[in-house]
Amino acid sequence: MDLGIKGRKAIVCAASKGLGKACAMHLAEAGVDLVINSRTKEAIEATAAEIAKATGVTVIPVACDITTPEGRKQVLDAAGDVDILVNNAGGPPPGNFRDWEIEDWEKAVNANMLTPIELIKSTVDGMIDRKFGRIVNITSGAVKAPISYLGLSNGARAGLTGFVAGVARETVRHNVTINGLLPGPFATDRLHGNLRLQAEKAGRTFEDYAAEQAGKNPAGRFGEPDEFGATCAFMCSVHAGFMTGQNILLDGGAFPGTL
Ligand code: NAP
Repeated sequence: MDLGIKGRKAIVCAASKGLGKACAMHLAEAGVDLVINSRTKEAIEATAAEIAKATGVTVIPVACDITTPEGRKQVLDAAGDVDILVNNAGGPPPGNFRDWEIEDWEKAVNANMLTPIELIKSTVDGMIDRKFGRIVNITSGAVKAPISYLGLSNGARAGLTGFVAGVARETVRHNVTINGLLPGPFATDRLHGNLRLQAEKAGRTFEDYAAEQAGKNPAGRFGEPDEFGATCAFMCSVHAGFMTGQNILLDGGAFPGTL
């Protein structure tokens, strides 16, 4: 399918690897020029070179922390006018809320709620003026089905989702959509790191424990980042102009509800 976005320009945050990289790769395959970001210079430069070589689009890497005002300025300056914004950042750490101080909450809310809102604020009016815009916020399946030990994530991402639910209904008449893309378990370094810790705690091997966890998903496996990236690119396509304020869950059917 032609996604109809060849020649458009996108910012994809937190994209040297994992889900962000997969989104960037699929947008590039659709002919979208990119500004991609992550904190580690070598990694983001290597990813930019890989995507540019594979697809022929222009990919500008920006090494910075997207959760800081300086980092966001660097990314926005590199991009200029953008048509597509994919918000993403590292997720907050797990834990027990009794151990969290106000600083822990401020960090999580800054990274997973205020950072995407700031980037939306900086880009959405230009999109409205140009009558095309697609914003996808990578959040988490925990927005729909909270995970108790991920309270910082549950709270901060629910805040972003609530904000977007309102503004997404204002922008859509200008052909600017804003949606959430909610990952369940996807086979990325982050998931593998979490599984490794849990396996250690349980005195099990990583392979054995990971296979057991994957088998518990209705799909019998973890998601592949490629599947996530393809969905993101569709949500950024010309075909998705009537979809806004939605939260698209990709979890292999793990959420047990009818809706
Ligand atoms: P990942 O494989 O660990 O990749 C994270 C990417 O984000 C890396 O490129 C990392 O590079 C970059 N990054 C992290 N913090 C950043 C910051 N402050 N500024 C700029 N770049 C930053 O993680 P992932 O699995 O793709 O997860 C992406 C998001 O989805 C996270 O918020 C995660 O919580 C959420 N999620 C993932 C899953 C899953 O199963 N994978 C499930 C639910 C939710 P640097 O470290 O070099 O900056």
